[in-house]
Amino acid sequence: MSSTTPVRVRFAPSPTGKLHIGGARTAIYNWAFARAHGGTFILRIDDTDPTRSTEENTQVILRAMRWLGLDWDEGPEVGGEFGPYRQTDRMQLYADAARRLAEQGKAYPCFCSAERLAADKAAAQARKDPFQGYQRTCRDIDPAEAASRIAAGEPHVWRIKVPLGRGDVTVRDAVHGDVVFDAKELDDFVIIRTDGTPTYNFATVVDDAAMGITHVIRGDDHLSNTPRQVMVYEALGAPVPTFAHISMILGPDGKKLSKRHGATSVEEYRDAGYLSDAFVNYLALLGWSLDGETTIVPRDVLAREFSLDHVSKNPATFDPKKLDWINNHYLDAMTEEDFTSQVMLPELVRSGLEVAGSLVHDPGWYLALAAVAKPRTKLLTDVAPICRFLYEGDDVTFDERSVAKNLAKEGAREALVAAREALGTIDEAGWKAEAIDAALDPIPEGIGLSKRKVFQAVRVAECGSQVSPPLGASLELLGKATTLARIERALPLTA
Ligand code: GLU
Repeated sequence: MSSTTPVRVRFAPSPTGKLHIGGARTAIYNWAFARAHGGTFILRIDDTDPTRSTEENTQVILRAMRWLGLDWDEGPEVGGEFGPYRQTDRMQLYADAARRLAEQGKAYPCFCSAERLAADKAAAQARKDPFQGYQRTCRDIDPAEAASRIAAGEPHVWRIKVPLGRGDVTVRDAVHGDVVFDAKELDDFVIIRTDGTPTYNFATVVDDAAMGITHVIRGDDHLSNTPRQVMVYEALGAPVPTFAHISMILGPDGKKLSKRHGATSVEEYRDAGYLSDAFVNYLALLGWSLDGETTIVPRDVLAREFSLDHVSKNPATFDPKKLDWINNHYLDAMTEEDFTSQVMLPELVRSGLEVAGSLVHDPGWYLALAAVAKPRTKLLTDVAPICRFLYEGDDVTFDERSVAKNLAKEGAREALVAAREALGTIDEAGWKAEAIDAALDPIPEGIGLSKRKVFQAVRVAECGSQVSPPLGASLELLGKATTLARIERALPLTA
């Protein structure tokens, strides 16, 4: 592939399940590589396995890609001149390609039964034949005879004719270097099954060739398929792309990352409350680095700087603590305005506390809330629990333990009565956190109770729980009328 050919890469998930961390990282690398090289990023749905592929999974994958912010230039929903972009819509292309190869003597029908194949293999093993693959039984059947057997309805597959004496196959890999595969392992493998469907190694190459893919970036579980795919490129007379096989992702115990280690699908991380930017940043670092030390690599830097020569061939270990750290960093770095519009309001709407398009309060109120909520938000899902007490009108939900520990205690009634009186003297216009704190401040001394006792009693009366944002800021957000109403409602709960 000439170095001046514009980059075209693809992410080709099989919709046999959700989009997992490993797949998401492959998608990120392809996307970033395309962006960094002014190339084209293609999304192709490899759904030729009809027993395991579902439309629902396809939709889940597309949704996850959108959440990750990996926009594709060609593919489902956006189209493109190399479509269609679902393999099940390309079946005719595979059949045509196989027919062309057959016409050129590069593919042939094979009528061997499963029993025959098993017997041949056993015999090859028994005689210690270094070549243990398909024994080329049908390779030299006269084409006229083959045609009449096909016409008579005899079941058959199509196999590729690997040139005899092809020799070892060297795969040029941008991550692993040159990987040499022993010619003895190459047999005339199946390209079209008995039912007419293409095998993965065939469909992938027909598509990658037709779509002009210049770089195949994918998981290294596919490295062993690559020599076969090279055979298909050569038979098709298509240029062989550059390969980049990326290492697998391990769990903290050193075993391949799986369900046993916890959440593995992208949507589980979205639902757990991670920021898309932070998640993409974290996954990008699982096997790639900017300079060996930088941890915060925002999306735009990734899209500018990503290169295959900084991809490691060693397995990467998934580290949830590092993901949390990066997520925190992104949240901390947000302005309160961005936090409000990008995190807090969407979370308030998602949790049903607010209705999109008809917000309850004015903009200043939300900014004041953001100042309180942002430092307490570690995951997006923290927002609603932090803010819920502000949305309960006069009837805050009480946490029983907090009531027992702080309200049903001697002195709590005096604390609430004194707070009601002190707060009642602040006028509406002056209802601000500083004025509220100043009004409450002298109460402990005045009634001879500890600060902790007084303020915790007021806190539980107002917020329902002993864990809440700072008192003055909370009461400012609640407003004077609600603050006083909640004290009335809490009084009967005091000892
Ligand atoms: N559909 C294949 C997979 O999900 C694609 C592999 C490839 O990129 O060639 O593993």
